[in-house]
Amino acid sequence: MSEHSALTDEERAIYEWQLWVAGFGGEGQVRLKNATVLVTRVGGVGGMVAMHLAAAGVGRLILAHAGDLRPSDLNRQLLMSHAGLGKSRVEQAADRLRAFNPRVEVVAVAENISDANADRLVRDADLIASCAPLFEERLRLNRAAIACAKPLVDAAMYEMEAQLTCVLPGQGPCLACLYPTPPADWNRRFPVLGAVAGTVGSLAAVEVIKILAGFGEPLIGKMLICDLSAMTFRKIEMRRDPGCRVCGHS
Ligand SMILES: [Zn+2]
Repeated sequence: MSEHSALTDEERAIYEWQLWVAGFGGEGQVRLKNATVLVTRVGGVGGMVAMHLAAAGVGRLILAHAGDLRPSDLNRQLLMSHAGLGKSRVEQAADRLRAFNPRVEVVAVAENISDANADRLVRDADLIASCAPLFEERLRLNRAAIACAKPLVDAAMYEMEAQLTCVLPGQGPCLACLYPTPPADWNRRFPVLGAVAGTVGSLAAVEVIKILAGFGEPLIGKMLICDLSAMTFRKIEMRRDPGCRVCGHS
């Protein structure tokens, strides 16, 4: 984390209601203030993660997302606006977050995760929030997180279902223990209800805040599976694969 700095009077006023949260308090707030989180993709899921992290006072957010806003993004990408159609998604997201909380430093990277940038972006952060719709990107981030020993929160959704897990390198399984290779039937375009994407994004933000502030019980070695069509939430155990090609020898 960057050099420690205590809270100002203004910050104490802004974050007053969350300073009362048991186990969080001023110490947790200072940890958030001094943390950098990489949020990859700021669409329906990642946009909600970034919004909640900005609201909670994470000091520095790096947003990575390529491309310009299309009409079909507007049912779920809440950091965007109709006036921004045809313009950079990540720049809109960054501007929205800066306006919402000017105390947060926001870095906009107009790229999706690839071999060319994954390790560099992950090294610059204290924690990774992986919100990409593509398994290749999620698994690439997982590899970078393990290699750089950075915690990873992985959030994903499909139609009315959502999945969430946390990877703490050296303390449990990684994403590749469960998915050694991307599932063959995964599609780039899939059914999305914005409220479902936003729900898993909100849950992921809770996990990021817990890990950074050091309280609660993050989903390490567990995956939360949500079926929002029936409103059922269950946790499954994830086992570490000793032969995992990503975390097996770390
Ligand atoms: Zn693994």
